[in-house]
Amino acid sequence: MPPSAEQLKQWDRAHVWHPFTQMSEWTDPLVIGRAEGNYLFDTAGRKYFDGVSSLWVTVHGHKHPALNKAIIQQLDKVAHSTLLGLANEPSIELARMLAQVAPEGLTRVFYSDSGSTAVEIALKQAFQYWQHRGEPRTQFEFLADAYHGDTLGAVGVGGISLFHEVFGPLLRPVEPAMRLPTPASLRGLGRQRRPWPDCTTQALAQARELFGARGDDIAALIVEPMVQGAAGMLTQPPGYLRGLADLCAEHGILLIADEVATGLGRTGRMFACEHEDVKPDFLCMAKGLSGGYLPLAATLTTDRVFEAFLAPRAAAKTFFHGHTYTGNPLACAAGVANLELFRREQVLTQLPSRIDCLRRALETLEGNPHVGEIRQQGLMVGVEVVADEDWTPYPSDRFAGARVCEAVRDHGVILRPLGDVIVMMPPLSSSFEELRLMVQAVDKALPRAVS
Ligand code: PMP
Repeated sequence: MPPSAEQLKQWDRAHVWHPFTQMSEWTDPLVIGRAEGNYLFDTAGRKYFDGVSSLWVTVHGHKHPALNKAIIQQLDKVAHSTLLGLANEPSIELARMLAQVAPEGLTRVFYSDSGSTAVEIALKQAFQYWQHRGEPRTQFEFLADAYHGDTLGAVGVGGISLFHEVFGPLLRPVEPAMRLPTPASLRGLGRQRRPWPDCTTQALAQARELFGARGDDIAALIVEPMVQGAAGMLTQPPGYLRGLADLCAEHGILLIADEVATGLGRTGRMFACEHEDVKPDFLCMAKGLSGGYLPLAATLTTDRVFEAFLAPRAAAKTFFHGHTYTGNPLACAAGVANLELFRREQVLTQLPSRIDCLRRALETLEGNPHVGEIRQQGLMVGVEVVADEDWTPYPSDRFAGARVCEAVRDHGVILRPLGDVIVMMPPLSSSFEELRLMVQAVDKALPRAVS
């Protein structure tokens, strides 16, 4: 007899420690039993639109026949074999495909299994690159409100105090990483925000000043291009990313693009860097890389970086890093099928009309007195929940964003907030109708949730 829905809930409460969750308030878990297309079903059979793509990963929908088939076919061959000392078919094929779709120059692929590990790898490779060059740059720069994952290296370049401050004493970098203000961090809150161009100019001027003073010590700058997701879908104005990339080039600073959230079509282009024609030295991807099926990440870099590690083995220039499941064949087979789907179904060509449909749907929220700024880049959206027409934030202990997301479940939609920002990140396969329903659910849920 399989366990009943109630029994599962009890066991979950008894044994599972959930991520980013205050477990004292974890009382009535919604247990997902299955999925179909863009929908999740709970164990009681209720159906929900997956408005956050199961934490930003689902690309073409759940239970997609092509992805299922690719994994099953690979399962018949080999589920896992290591990349330490051996190679395997799907990881080779996927690396080649990634080099083809990534911004120019990113030809070398290092696999891992999460966004955090993809970032750790970029940080360590950048650091070791400078050691090998005999120019030991040790400083890392990151942006205000940055989020790059939860492992300690990634926390070291994190800029969200709620998540990162407590772990400060655990971090022992050679020099603490430095935080740069961003246009979004300079704009302020409320309805009256400073104009974007002024903030962009100021943010770039500060970067220029810092790079001018310390450029020779700076190994790399890490950025989430175009959208800082975990900070609350903070979008970047035109010219900012380009400006940062130009400054990095001027000072020989390596640019790490963390496309864990933005990559694989979410912003309307395959990679967010493309919006500003930026060719980074490293590009980290994870989340949607396997189509949202299996833990898979990749850190891409250039021949220039790769070649700095080449030497006789005794020179100890090897990149001594690897995870047990690095290059897992099942996950890589899903990755190959995912990229094939992008090509075969012309996913990127279909995106502009969906993005436009979502934009029009979001416009209907503008009259809602509980809605502040609405930020959209492609199919990544943040909607601020505010207390009044001046866009005053709710006190943080009101948990207004969380309440709205709880209430939208009654309208058949799963969403997850970031503070008081309602995040929408639907699968790229969402229909016009589904996109509209998701926005309408927020519109309907808001008044009750904040009353
Ligand atoms: N970088 C960015 C930009 C992210 O948004 C995230 C996760 N949301 C990560 C890194 C970390 O990824 P993971 O949770 O897979 O470790």
